[in-house]
Amino acid sequence: MAIVLVLSGAIQGCANKGETSTLAQHSGPIKVYSYEKRGYIMSEKVVRTEAEWKKQLTPEQFHILRQKGTEQAGTGKYAYSHEHGIYRCAGCGLDLFRSEDKYESGTGWPSFFAPISPDNITTAADNSLFSRRTEVLCRRCGGHLGHVFNDGPPPTGLRYCMNSAALDFVAFKK
Ligand code: FE
Repeated sequence: MAIVLVLSGAIQGCANKGETSTLAQHSGPIKVYSYEKRGYIMSEKVVRTEAEWKKQLTPEQFHILRQKGTEQAGTGKYAYSHEHGIYRCAGCGLDLFRSEDKYESGTGWPSFFAPISPDNITTAADNSLFSRRTEVLCRRCGGHLGHVFNDGPPPTGLRYCMNSAALDFVAFKK
């Protein structure tokens, strides 16, 4: 029984990896929301090799975005931030979250009840760590951002639990 469980876990792990890399490898135009344009724009998917990502990102960003890592709770630079602005993907700069959709979840990770647009993210099943979670990825570069849970506040009831290192904050102009 134990062997069967281990095997199914391994297969599931491969399936997840396959799904993600397929997403990242499909280049071509995608329709995403741009805060600056206040509307949808066509954008090219961002596809880079592991070596290119390593060169571009800090070791922490690389570990989280490209290796699906998780930063320690309460240590991220945006965990308790309340400044007004936009959170972009630290990998490709795509607009991902708005400060007005951020709330204090008490988890120690920056938490949002919605993305800036459902078209700017993708989700995938994540059955690692003996739990069933839903992974959240950047739609443009396939970078791992965090997970989404069903215990968020109104109006969506969702909690997008993100890693600060996967995000770049840009303050609104005053
Ligand atoms: Fe990205």
